[in-house]
Amino acid sequence: MIYLDNNATTQPSPRVVEAMLPYLNDCYFNPSSSTTAFTGADKPRLAAASAMKTLLNAEEPECFSFTSGATESNNWVFSSISKLHNVGTVLISTIEHASISEPAAELSRLGFRVIEIPVDHQGLLQLDALDDALNDHTVLVSIMAANNETGVLQPLHEIGSIIRKKNPAALFHTDATQAVGKMSVDLQRDWQDVDLASFSAHKFHGPKGIGGLYIRPGLEIPPFLLGGGQEEGRRSGTSNTPGLAGLSVAASECNPGSDSIAKIRDYFEIELKNRFPEAVIHSAGALRLPNTSCFSMPDSTGEEIAATLATQDIIVGTGSACSSGAIHPPKTLLAMGIDYGIARAALRVSLNAFSTIEQITRFVSHLEAAVSNSLRT
Ligand code: PMP
Repeated sequence: MIYLDNNATTQPSPRVVEAMLPYLNDCYFNPSSSTTAFTGADKPRLAAASAMKTLLNAEEPECFSFTSGATESNNWVFSSISKLHNVGTVLISTIEHASISEPAAELSRLGFRVIEIPVDHQGLLQLDALDDALNDHTVLVSIMAANNETGVLQPLHEIGSIIRKKNPAALFHTDATQAVGKMSVDLQRDWQDVDLASFSAHKFHGPKGIGGLYIRPGLEIPPFLLGGGQEEGRRSGTSNTPGLAGLSVAASECNPGSDSIAKIRDYFEIELKNRFPEAVIHSAGALRLPNTSCFSMPDSTGEEIAATLATQDIIVGTGSACSSGAIHPPKTLLAMGIDYGIARAALRVSLNAFSTIEQITRFVSHLEAAVSNSLRT
């Protein structure tokens, strides 16, 4: 199989799976139990916090609280706003994942003012609009680090400076789910104004069902899950020790400084344009994740091409959301002002650390057949 849908999820690496097995087989003990000093069941959590500290250059391992993943972390941040404030304004972008836009809608139902800041034609946040919307009433700004559909990176450093200038007390959260593991992140330099950042291990060759929330030292937010007081009282529930063991290895295996994935993505886009001069590559003029290419073949539908490719054992993303039988084009492309028909045709190729030039060459020739098939029907 040629798997090119790594922004949806990645394959756990062999070392990740190996690291998890002892915590499923022999060391299945409860790390919060008094026996932990003898069983060693607390080791995965310690290792995970330390690996995340290194990967993101956080101040200390204690900055990380582990959750079931980014959806939970995002919901935690938004639910904490309604516990900390009775009223206020929340700013998000128009291209956030549903795990941000839905909790934001819930805050709006509770009486908070939610403003969606638009993006430009390349998918970059309109910083003037952010500046205009920020004021003393702003309690939270949540802007994604990297977009799941186009891979576009938001200028978090600049966004942080604007927030601190207009309202230093506002919380600055980033949904960093697509960024962590795929690009260099330095929480103390580039993201120094970020207070909270969400991530999921399965996006960087770790297991599903484990992720976390970075919380800047000195900041306290109310707990999301109450109970046994795990995670320093911040998130109750018996720790997922196999998941943590996998996450720690996945985080330590990341090599976000390497440009090898970007080279393969760039090779793909050159090949694509050579074979299909009419192809539209979305956000090609913006800084993007090195692994992501979102493109449209005019006059065809993304799902049809993806379905034909799947019969050849090639998996690509369509970015389209499907609800009650109706297929909608990627939300991000529509928010960028891309024509509906072009957005409907979008396909997303997202590579991983093991993707090869040979896979791309094979993919492009199968794409040619799939496109002519789609144009015939
Ligand atoms: N945010 C973004 C940008 C994502 O791409 C995803 C996963 N598609 C999530 C949040 C949610 O991640 P998870 O399903 O692991 O909770």
